[in-house]
Parts: sequence; structure tokens; C-alpha cells
Amino acid sequence: MPVDRLLPTEEARDLIELTREIADKVLEPHAAEFEKREQYPEEAFRALGAAGLLSLPYPEEFGGGAQPYEVYLQVLEELAARWAAVAVAVSVHSLSCHPLFVFGTPEQQRRWLPEMLSGNLIGAYSLSEAHAGSDAAALRCKATAVEGGYRIDGSKSWITNGGRADYYTLFARTGDGSRGVSCFLVPAGTEGLGFGKPEEKMGLRAVPTTTAAYDGAFLPAERLIGAEGQGLSIAFSALDSGRLGIAAVATGLAQRALDDAVAYAKEREAFGRRIIDHQGLGFVLADMAAAVDSARATYLDAARRRDAGLPYSRQASVAKLVATDAAMKVTTDAVQVFGGYGYTQDFPVERYMREAKITQIFEGTNQIQRLVIARDLAR
Ligand SMILES: Cc1cc2nc3c(=O)[nH]c(=O)nc-3n(C[C@H](O)[C@H](O)[C@H](O)COP(=O)(O)OP(=O)(O)OC[C@H]3O[C@@H](n4cnc5c(N)ncnc54)[C@H](O)[C@@H]3O)c2cc1C
Repeated sequence: MPVDRLLPTEEARDLIELTREIADKVLEPHAAEFEKREQYPEEAFRALGAAGLLSLPYPEEFGGGAQPYEVYLQVLEELAARWAAVAVAVSVHSLSCHPLFVFGTPEQQRRWLPEMLSGNLIGAYSLSEAHAGSDAAALRCKATAVEGGYRIDGSKSWITNGGRADYYTLFARTGDGSRGVSCFLVPAGTEGLGFGKPEEKMGLRAVPTTTAAYDGAFLPAERLIGAEGQGLSIAFSALDSGRLGIAAVATGLAQRALDDAVAYAKEREAFGRRIIDHQGLGFVLADMAAAVDSARATYLDAARRRDAGLPYSRQASVAKLVATDAAMKVTTDAVQVFGGYGYTQDFPVERYMREAKITQIFEGTNQIQRLVIARDLAR
């Protein structure tokens, strides 16, 4: 049964309906096979782009959908309920546009944002390195000032859509320490930029995650976003929004696992009754439902604060922590509800469980979310 959502406008209700229609047609039928074959969902991105679903939280003047975060995140949730890898890539694409939208000059925005938000291009976000994940300030990839711009040397890791994206929001070192990082917008075809082979992952296998190697790649000065040395604060500001995207994806995944588990529990019989009618199992499902509703409530709270222009960094971390832990628990319990069948690839719940795990790790592990929350409490 579709989630009964509280939406702010008629337009938002139509948008959710449109998303469900498209996702049922272009995501749902292909998710399992494409994940198994590690096949890139090119057609899916094209369809989402054509429907305007790749630019929702950005203003119309740049070709965006002008939707509040509250609505954009619920769209992401609907996508994730059909195909988590695609929803993650959509969230990362939004994240990759954030630095230019918030910190770019009007001239940079006019030149590049409309194309990035056109639905024809996909963006990637390149902060992490092999030795610098949680400790992003330890990154080493270097941007050396040269005549007319910067020369980039070094390697990046863990890039969602690496080798597939059309542009990369890159963080590289222009000086020492945490104030020595800068943000750049790198077109995919840049000479001296190459990508490693996709990581062999536990889940989200249809969308590649790769390393990138920069070998003397030249970027014109105009490709610097924000001021030199402002990179880390740009990266973290973008991640506040990105974390909400991941919270929404995790909620969609958990909702789907719950829906599948409830449907199965109404069909499957043991001891002469539907298993849902055994109180011990009914309570497992009830806890799953409570976890999904709580996850949604926390990300919506943070999103509404963001939409109202209020600080929301702590609430974004709470949402990421609560929703992704919920996704892990709910998907694991869904496997339990399916019994032995849950442990096989005959049903998708084992995939949901594998997919849920990464949501606790990327865009700041859940230990790092606790750090953000604790620091805010200690202020
Ligand atoms: C599938 C996938 C996709 C990704 N996509 C992207 C992407 O698109 N762009 C990008 O930039 N990055 C991406 N990442 C990288 C991801 O954000 C990092 O993996 C993550 O931030 C953790 O960094 P790490 O792997 O280096 O782990 P580490 O930082 O080495 O952490 C290892 C463990 O130590 C814990 N830990 C570390 N520091 C502390 C601390 N201070 N207190 C308590 N515990 C701590 C962590 O929580 C974790 O459990 C992706 C990763 C994966 C696996």
C-alpha cells in the first residue's frame, strides 16, 4: 500500500504520484537484474531527468523544480523504495550541485547550473580519499596555482558515479591545514583525469563507485567555487543537505522491506495460522513500522527547518543516524520474517539488507553523526 503522506501542496501530491508512476515503470522492473549484473541504469536516469526529477530542490531560474526539501526528500524516498542505488545517485547528484548553487558567483551559476540541472547531466561529489574519509581534512590531492588556473595532482576515492558522471565537484588542497582546501567543478572530459575500475561492493552494484587519478589536470581559474581555502566549509555545508538525502533513501528502503514483510506475513502460514497472526511475529512487524515512521518524522523535521531557513545541521545528523539505523534493523528483521527464504535471492529482502548497510557508512559514518550531535550539545 502506498505511504499515506502529509504533503504541503496539491502540486506536491501530483509530483509524488508522477514519481510513483515513473518509478514503477522504469526502476522497479529492472532493479534486481541490473543489480545482479552490475549494469548501469542509464535509461532510468534519462527518464528521471526528462521528468524533471533530477533538479527538484533548486530554483526555477536555473531550471530547477523549486520544490521544498520536505517534498524533494519524499520523492527520493519513493525512488529508494524501488531501487536504492538510483536514489543514492540522485541524492549525490543534488549534493554535487549544492556548492555551485550556494557558493558560486552569479556568473558561474548562470554559465553552468542550468545545464547541470537540465536532467541531461549527472554530477558526482569527490571529497573522500583512500586515507581520508571521516577525517576529510587529511585529504592530500593537490591543486597548485599555475598561470590561468590550477594543476591538479593526486587521487580521490569512493566516487559514486565515478567514470559515469558528467562533472565532479572536487575538493583539493591549495594550502596547509583545514583552511587549505578548495572546491572545484571539474568537467568529466578534463585531460589528465582518469578513473579506476568499479569497487566490488556488497550492494548498490549497478552504480559504480571508483577512484579517480589526477595527473597534471589543468583547470581554468574560473572553475574554483567559492574562495581559495573555503573548501571544507563548502563540503560540510553540502553534506548537511546530502545527509538528509541519505536519510530519505534509508527510509524508503526500510519502508519497502516492511511492505514486503507484511505482504509475506499475510500469506505465509505456520501452525495453522497466517504468521502475522502470531503475536510474536506481529510485534516484530509493529516495531519495524514504528522504526520507519520515526525515521520519516526525523528527516521531515530537519527538512522543514531547512525550508524555513533555520539551522538544521544537528537535526540532519539525527535524521541520518536514526533513519539509517532504522533501515539496517528493519531490513534485517524483514529477512527474519521471510525465514529461510529471506536468506536466498528468491526474494529481494536480502538485497535490501545489503543495501541498508552502506547508508550507515557514507556521507559521514554514524559515529561521525554522533560526533556532530555531541559537539552541538557541548556548544
Ligand atoms: C559505496 C560508497 C559510496 C561512497 N560515495 C562517496 C562519494 O560519492 N563521495 C565521497 O566523497 N565519498 C564517498 N564515499 C566515502 C564515504 O563517505 C567514506 O567511506 C566514509 O566517510 C568513511 O570513511 P572511511 O571509509 O575512510 O572510514 P574511516 O574514516 O577510516 O572510519 C573507519 C571507522 O572508524 C570510525 N571513526 C573514524 N573516526 C572516528 C571518530 N572520530 N570517532 C569515532 N569513530 C570514528 C568510523 O565511524 C568507521 O567506523 C563512499 C563510500 C562508499 C563505501
